[in-house]
Amino acid sequence: MYSKIKKIQEQLTSGQISCVELTQSYLKAMESDNKKLNAYVNPTAELALETAKRVDRKITSGEQLLPLEGIPMTLKDNISTKGIETTCCSKILKGYVPIYNATVWDILQNQNAVLLGKTNMDEFAMGSSCETSCFGGALNPHDFSRVAGGSSGGVASAVCGNLAAFGLGSDTGGSIRQPASFCGIVGLKPTYGAVSRYGLIAYASSFDQIGPITTSVEDAALVYDAISLYDEKDSTSRGRVSAPASESLNKSIKGMKIGIAKEYFEGIRGDVNEAMQNAIKVYESLGAEIVYFDMPSLKYSLSVYYILACAEASSNLGRYDGIRYGYQAEHYADRDEMVCKTRSEGFGDEVKRRILLGTYVLSAGYYDAYYKKAQNLRGALVKAFQEAFTKCDVVLAPTVPMTAFPLNFTAQDAVETYLTDICTVPVNIAGLPGISVPCGFDASGLPIGMQLIGDRFCEATILNAAHQYEAATRETTFRAADMGVKL
Ligand code: GLN
Repeated sequence: MYSKIKKIQEQLTSGQISCVELTQSYLKAMESDNKKLNAYVNPTAELALETAKRVDRKITSGEQLLPLEGIPMTLKDNISTKGIETTCCSKILKGYVPIYNATVWDILQNQNAVLLGKTNMDEFAMGSSCETSCFGGALNPHDFSRVAGGSSGGVASAVCGNLAAFGLGSDTGGSIRQPASFCGIVGLKPTYGAVSRYGLIAYASSFDQIGPITTSVEDAALVYDAISLYDEKDSTSRGRVSAPASESLNKSIKGMKIGIAKEYFEGIRGDVNEAMQNAIKVYESLGAEIVYFDMPSLKYSLSVYYILACAEASSNLGRYDGIRYGYQAEHYADRDEMVCKTRSEGFGDEVKRRILLGTYVLSAGYYDAYYKKAQNLRGALVKAFQEAFTKCDVVLAPTVPMTAFPLNFTAQDAVETYLTDICTVPVNIAGLPGISVPCGFDASGLPIGMQLIGDRFCEATILNAAHQYEAATRETTFRAADMGVKL
């Protein structure tokens, strides 16, 4: 059994450890190790212990536990938590305490999941390294001179460093899958609409999705099953449409068609490609059939993503005006100056860059040339995937063309970091589910991630395919996830 969640529940129900003891041990580890990792930006020890006590009472009275009950976990700091500061790791939201819960947190809280704290992220989820955070970036437990990835870098760092059993991140262009890949763990970006976005602080609403970061595929399925419920508070919500994914993890993949689009492999690093080829061999040995095809429109993905995501961000972030939320500039002559100063002082450089880019592509005279063209290409990409899924059940690709990059890589060249999103953004453009699973290590011991992409609402298919791969290779590929990284 690879599921950390199930192992913990077994220990709790057999009385091996109480939930309070378990929570205390996580809190203690956080006290020492978070100084090294900077994964948590806001620990919630008191709430965690209160919840743990409730769980212990339930265990003592012999009540059956819900699937995520008593499990120590974390939430990315763009998921609204009533009464708990939620900053998106931006100065402009410092001091902002939501008056309502995100639906996913309502669900987890109702299950008595033990929230250990809110975790670090790129400011407003814009970035691939976690370094645009106003708290400084989260570090990679495998190598402290490397980034944990982004934007959900804090969740990945905490889960990899054994400071949480699982976490929820958000993925707009790769922010769950990329940090999971950099940290050698599992990250699932669900189908657009499968998980409610209510209470997720918006970056680019037509791309954003919440999903789990875990140490096994089974755990990703368990968490996905719990949070993929229809929610009337999100007009794009549909919820899970099929049977629980965790119940279909042991299906044989004999005859399953795994698609390889050559465009995903262009320009990726040699060792990453080698790991992909090895993974393909594993699938062949499990009886899957590999199908090769071209998807020429994939080459437009990055441009489409950065035009549309920035356009949506420029509109979504218009609400931070110094009046309604968080930070307000101290000295100003009138309202206009207050708004201008608040935004100038409150937003970091990357956020400003994207607001400017987004405003530009939406402005009169440029709308047709950029925004409209990008929307049309989005349609073409959706079609390209629809066609791909007539030929295969799952598309296999690298998650990132490289492994975790050194700190301050972003500062050197923003465009270069945008390029690292090349393999993750197509899934968001087309609204598809995608999972990243560990599939090897580079020469310096840094994890490499493989991505499996499914058709809309086919989470169960990619989770099963990922689980079969995990079962065949866990000892080698999931080394880090299995043991937890020694800090
Ligand atoms: N790295 C991408 C970006 O900077 C994706 C971020 C995300 O998924 N939130 O936009």
